[in-house]
Amino acid sequence: MSDHWIAERTRCFDTSGIRRVFELGAKLTERIDLSIGQPDFDVPEEVRQAAIDAIQSRKNGYALSQGIPALREKLQAKIDQQYGHDDREVFVTCGTSGGLMLAMLVLVDPGDEVIVFDPCFVMYGALAGVSGGKVVYVDTYPDFRIDLDRVADAITPKTKAIVCNSPANPTGVVATATEVRGLAELARERDVVLISDEIYRDFCFDEPFRSPAEHNPQTLVCDGFSKSAGMPGWRLGFAHGPSRIIREMIKLQQYSFVCAPHPFQWAGATAMDVDTRERVEAYRHKRDLVAEGLADDYELVRPTGAFYAFPKAPWGTGTEFVERAITEHKLLIIPGQAFSRRDTHFRISFAAPDEVIQQGVALLRRMAAEGQ
Ligand code: PMP
Repeated sequence: MSDHWIAERTRCFDTSGIRRVFELGAKLTERIDLSIGQPDFDVPEEVRQAAIDAIQSRKNGYALSQGIPALREKLQAKIDQQYGHDDREVFVTCGTSGGLMLAMLVLVDPGDEVIVFDPCFVMYGALAGVSGGKVVYVDTYPDFRIDLDRVADAITPKTKAIVCNSPANPTGVVATATEVRGLAELARERDVVLISDEIYRDFCFDEPFRSPAEHNPQTLVCDGFSKSAGMPGWRLGFAHGPSRIIREMIKLQQYSFVCAPHPFQWAGATAMDVDTRERVEAYRHKRDLVAEGLADDYELVRPTGAFYAFPKAPWGTGTEFVERAITEHKLLIIPGQAFSRRDTHFRISFAAPDEVIQQGVALLRRMAAEGQ
């Protein structure tokens, strides 16, 4: 085949650094795995049963592109109760990723600028680039807080959107009420779309979750069931925002994903009734194991949400440190470079059994003490 068959836009992204770690790790027989960005708990029993029932009762055909009414209406009622906005419409997407992709494609024109925070989830830059946009990074090191002055300085007449994510992957940082409000108001004042990725909304350990949509009714929210209901393989998400944007996203869904997996939409409606507090409590304890375990040896911003910690490598670059962790200690972690233009940190996922976290923390302490 010829080189020119491959579209230019594929140059906006590379194989995710996370995948590379998975490939390295797949060769190891025994390993301590703190690399995975998915909960270690399974889908609750009643939700699994709801999926089985849906399949057995032949709900296997196409669903409406916007989602089955049983799920969509339930989501809409919850969102209306939460926000009370006149013009906030929801539809069902193929995971949060599906929502993010449609959002970028319907909002970003070639040449538009999209502001993302550095570090951030790998997909934002890739999707903005695929849509023809130019990614503008706002650095958040060393404390990973939203500095509104830096955001304001990054906005130009070409800025179309800002993508925010709290609780955040890869840092585990939850934006404060003041940051969330400030960002929401800044986007509104400067007439920029605020895309809020709220997939970790249930995983807030120290303070309640805040959405910028509370302060800016034009906020587009991308959300999903992957983390909160432990079903990343079921590809179920939802997006809500101004109806004009949502209608365009649904139109594009018709021509791409078609619909989210039909039987799992029924299960999603059941998942909405499951109480997740106990799980979040367990994850708070896992956070404590990591934060307290690394406090003496690592520069670490204490995570307050999601299930990640993002310490600074005690020596070498993030990549050098991670390579040593994997090859010499069979400890799987992700280099910060996968999420950032800097190569100084690494990501730990504490979505793992407590014993595995304890083993990983002990190894990391040893690695810090041993030095390069
Ligand atoms: N947003 C963030 C911040 C994530 O960390 C992830 C998954 N790791 C996603 C979106 C994608 O989630 P989904 O499985 O719902 O597509």
